[in-house]
Amino acid sequence: MSEKSLTDWQTTAAALSIEGRAFINGRCMDALSGETRPTNNPANSQRIADVAVCGIEDADQAVKKARAAFDSGIWSAMAPADRKMVLVRWAELIEQHTEELALLECLDVGKPISDTTSVDVPSAVRTIRWSGEAIDKVYDEISPTPSNCLALVRRLPLGVVAAIVPWNFPLSTTAWKLAPSLATGNSVILKPASNTPLTGIRIAELATEAGLPDGVLQVLPGPGGSLGKHLAMHMDVDGLTFTGSTPVGKQLMQYSGQSNLKRTFLELGGKSPNIIFADANLEKAASMAAAAVFYNGGQTCTAGTRLIVEEKIKDEFIDMVVDRAEKWMPGDPLDPATRMGPMIDEAQYRTVADYVDIGRDEGAALTFGGNQMMQETGGFYIEPTIFTGVENRMRIAEEEIFGPVLSVLTFSDAEDAVRIANDSIYGLAGAVWSNNINTAHKVAEAVRVGTMGINNYFGGDITVPFGGFKQSGNGRDKSIHAFDDYTELKTTWIEFE
Ligand code: NAP
Repeated sequence: MSEKSLTDWQTTAAALSIEGRAFINGRCMDALSGETRPTNNPANSQRIADVAVCGIEDADQAVKKARAAFDSGIWSAMAPADRKMVLVRWAELIEQHTEELALLECLDVGKPISDTTSVDVPSAVRTIRWSGEAIDKVYDEISPTPSNCLALVRRLPLGVVAAIVPWNFPLSTTAWKLAPSLATGNSVILKPASNTPLTGIRIAELATEAGLPDGVLQVLPGPGGSLGKHLAMHMDVDGLTFTGSTPVGKQLMQYSGQSNLKRTFLELGGKSPNIIFADANLEKAASMAAAAVFYNGGQTCTAGTRLIVEEKIKDEFIDMVVDRAEKWMPGDPLDPATRMGPMIDEAQYRTVADYVDIGRDEGAALTFGGNQMMQETGGFYIEPTIFTGVENRMRIAEEEIFGPVLSVLTFSDAEDAVRIANDSIYGLAGAVWSNNINTAHKVAEAVRVGTMGINNYFGGDITVPFGGFKQSGNGRDKSIHAFDDYTELKTTWIEFE
């Protein structure tokens, strides 16, 4: 990637031309009401662009276009090898626009430019390319019938899919939804988070440039409570794929039941355990314990927010993590040296600050950080924060804070570590660190989460499924298994004379 300085990025940002209109039937357009709202930069509270506020009429129009495209077969009936070519071209175009998209994501989300250039954009490219390349290598089934019969078991696209995504990884989560749903032949309506609509709109324009037929992908920015709900209740939407909070996920399940039982897949919140045994590589474990919670300002569903440390190394290990936390002090996201940016908005900033107060009031020891820095910067910055002496019954150990706040707990033996790790409504991710593979494997097996690392955190790539146990959701993003969420199995039973 380029070796641009802060000044270079500021200059490029000032020259950006930003599209904030909805994307319907292959072109950008205003909301039917003409309404817009500003999207702001969380690093300085300044307006970046005005964005369309789509409503129910826009949604109905988009669903109609999506249905017409689906029924026409222009995409849904296209040979998988041809859909592959479009998706691969799309991935290439996104890659060619890495700098622009990385900058948009940096300004809109407050993510460090070093992350958006090295993680967010490349991950979206890989996801779309991989799903495109995979789709003409997936075979359907013939079942073991009597010899006078032939039974075909085929995967067919659902039809019209609505994808509702959050603000913390807009580009990556969007790619995780769009790549498999489009690869399997669906028409898709994306509703980005109100805070972060910009990269979703831009990549839809690139999809058309890559050859995606009009009407197959629409992007509707607008409020979740009205527009999102309308899509989730829509009688002509066949599938709903969602990444976001557990409370909204529960509502979406209800909307599905109250409407047409649309297939509903949910990637939700977490409170992930990161378990450290005394015999682990403590240097590496300490560096990753800090990264696990401070990366993206802790606004990560898989953040390792519960650090569960073997009692006998508690003091030594906490010192090591505190030492690493100093390196995560927040800074200007456009500065290539910044590792952690601001919180997404004032509401999230206040929520995190409230949790720091709650942790103190509950009797946990504030060992590092905890200060808010908004007055000095105009941005929603919070220091990396570490609470020690935490009990699993405290709210800071139970609830998803979604900020750079680490809760440190201790355990006596492997059984105790597993008990604490599993004592949560969530089951998204976790990790265990030990140089004894028997211990590590036993603990990894026993912790009830969708993804578990052994001697790493955030491990994985597009080849493995991602999703949650328990109230962290259902269905899976990524890998070949993601195709299951966007297809129905159809049996055709043939009898010969
Ligand atoms: P959120 O409040 O649940 O919002 C997510 C999306 O849902 C946004 O587009 C939002 O629109 C929309 N929405 C809100 N209320 C809705 C409703 N009643 N009906 C339909 N749509 C509605 O979550 P968030 O605060 O953006 O994101 C943070 C959460 O996402 C955390 O809990 C995090 O753990 C989770 N997450 C999970 C994963 C995973 O893969 N498991 C990955 C990333 C994030 P507006 O923006 O207009 O409100």
